[in-house]
Amino acid sequence: MRPDIDAVAAFLEPRHADVAAAVSGFGKEQLAPHPDPDTDADARIRARALVPLLAAAGLYEAVERLDLRAVSLIREGLAWHSPLADEVYALQALGSMPIRLGGIEDIQRTWLPAIDRGEAMCGFAMTEPEAGSDVGAMTTRATRDEHHWVIEGRKSFISNAGIADVYTVFASTDPTKGAKGISAFVVPADTPGLHFAGAQVMSAPHPLGELVFERCRIPADHLLGERGRGLGLGLATLDRLRATVGAAACGMAARALDEAVAHVNSRKQFGKPLAEFQLTQDRIAQMATELAAARLLVYRAVWAKDRGAERVTLESAMAKSYATEAAQRIVDGAVQLLGGRGVLASHPVDKLYRAVRSLRIYEGTTEIQRLLIAKEVLGGA
Ligand SMILES: Cc1cc2nc3c(=O)[nH]c(=O)nc-3n(C[C@H](O)[C@H](O)[C@H](O)COP(=O)(O)OP(=O)(O)OC[C@H]3O[C@@H](n4cnc5c(N)ncnc54)[C@H](O)[C@@H]3O)c2cc1C
Repeated sequence: MRPDIDAVAAFLEPRHADVAAAVSGFGKEQLAPHPDPDTDADARIRARALVPLLAAAGLYEAVERLDLRAVSLIREGLAWHSPLADEVYALQALGSMPIRLGGIEDIQRTWLPAIDRGEAMCGFAMTEPEAGSDVGAMTTRATRDEHHWVIEGRKSFISNAGIADVYTVFASTDPTKGAKGISAFVVPADTPGLHFAGAQVMSAPHPLGELVFERCRIPADHLLGERGRGLGLGLATLDRLRATVGAAACGMAARALDEAVAHVNSRKQFGKPLAEFQLTQDRIAQMATELAAARLLVYRAVWAKDRGAERVTLESAMAKSYATEAAQRIVDGAVQLLGGRGVLASHPVDKLYRAVRSLRIYEGTTEIQRLLIAKEVLGGA
């Protein structure tokens, strides 16, 4: 699948045509022959295998260059074929961004080349059992011990938990200060005291799990950015990448629409193809229109960030919430148009139905995005 660059051309540069061609070639050669695995164990093996393949195709260069329009085109193209490949790509960006934005030179030199060459896999550990949307409630603590930080706590719902080589970890260094006392750290996966506490198995393949930190000592220079500014670093990371979740949603929605169109053109009932019934046409028209609108919101947000906007909180929140909600409706519409075939576990639209659901939850739920939008709009008024 080649992302439709013409429909969002107003937001792109000539170089983005090459990006769309590169992800299209990768999808055809590396993803189409290998459907996403069904079990968590197989998904973990496949996810690790994808890290160097994505690097060999040059797809991480967009992350290195912080070219968010390119990242979005890549996420669309990957998600069309394989939500798992999109997850792997997205986490390399999400896990490495705080290192790019806040790591000292030594730390950047240790990790970024390895990440960009696909030799190291990343994770981003913010969520805790009692601190999801309310990040400021986190109880993981980092205490200074001479030349080290000692981390204690538990993180849950962490993508790539148990298979990553390095994690960006958020912990409170000043518990009395709430959100203003959170700091960010880079923690190599083989650090003594960091344990993988088990997989959290999803209905769609996505390596997810819990991490436990027990007197986990890391050198003082593993602090990312300034002490107490970790949440700001996390939010700056999300400000850049949140809209690209919308791009992944558009990739999944485009695949669902393609499957639905192929089906209604070939499936005959009552003596003619389903496509000739007006109720079918109405649903297809709604799906296509919502997809087009979602893509415009996504590319508007990443275009604004790429051209130097300091904050794109409003644009990203609109793009992420609208695109992920629309993708859910589009995928559901495809399942309905496929009839019984659409709920067979092996069918691409059933796999998409399971995969697309979590996009409305991670990197800030739809409700939290709407709170952000309302705050900006009401504040402006
Ligand atoms: C597939 C997947 C991958 C993930 N990967 C990562 C990862 O790599 N790293 C990481 O740190 N986290 C990750 N997460 C965690 C994710 O970011 C959280 O699940 C998310 O922030 C929501 O937190 P929660 O699940 O605790 O839900 P809660 O915060 O408990 O929210 C439950 C419900 O209440 C609503 N709600 C909460 N507060 C309000 C409010 N003020 N007003 C109105 N409604 C509200 C929410 O919108 C939601 O509908 C992942 C989650 C999933 C599902």
